[in-house]
Amino acid sequence: MGAGAWVKNLLFPKRCIYCGAVVGFAPSCRCAPQLEACRRPAGGEVVAQEQCKLSFVQAAAAVYAYQPPVTAGLARLKFEGKDYLAVPYGQQMAQAALRVWGAGAFDFIVPVPSTSAQISHRGYDVPALLARSMGLLLAIPVCGDILRKDYETARQHELPLSQRKVNLLGAFSVVTSEKLQDARVLLCDDILTTGATLEECAKMLQIGGAKTVCGIVFAATPKQKP
Ligand SMILES: [Zn+2]
Repeated sequence: MGAGAWVKNLLFPKRCIYCGAVVGFAPSCRCAPQLEACRRPAGGEVVAQEQCKLSFVQAAAAVYAYQPPVTAGLARLKFEGKDYLAVPYGQQMAQAALRVWGAGAFDFIVPVPSTSAQISHRGYDVPALLARSMGLLLAIPVCGDILRKDYETARQHELPLSQRKVNLLGAFSVVTSEKLQDARVLLCDDILTTGATLEECAKMLQIGGAKTVCGIVFAATPKQKP
């Protein structure tokens, strides 16, 4: 560490990008062992089919299990204004996508859309920021103008698992299908629980002409019983 970086770290101590604790000069945060336990095997495991029945999504991969300290990191990104966390999180998602599907597997990235009310409430669009960070690393375009979320649905995580799929029916629509023809799409979102959101988006993308749709998320909830 150079003298400049040393002083900077003293004045503005480095914080963990997950739990938010001051790391300072320590090589890693005290949450590192917990984080390691969250990491999916091979750093981007394809979410098991028994967890979510995916039919329109060819395969979905997650970087981490949705457990502490990843839960804390995502809460800071989504609810505490820490939009800059989308950069390192998106980079990890891009690396996971490379490990799972290899280079050149996709034509472009589509972020799961948020409603304009969600974006104005938060001040930014989390899946879009993750997609931008991924796109830079994978060197493929991000197409945020293909899908649109037409109305605010009840919050997925507040619903029983059995109602989550129904809740989303008709929530998304394809705005422009020109780019979609025979395209291999990488769909991205922050969290996957049942896979219902990815499925509904993938269905619309396929109806719109996409050849294949795979999904990538930062964290997937551990397997739940329906
Ligand atoms: Zn930490």
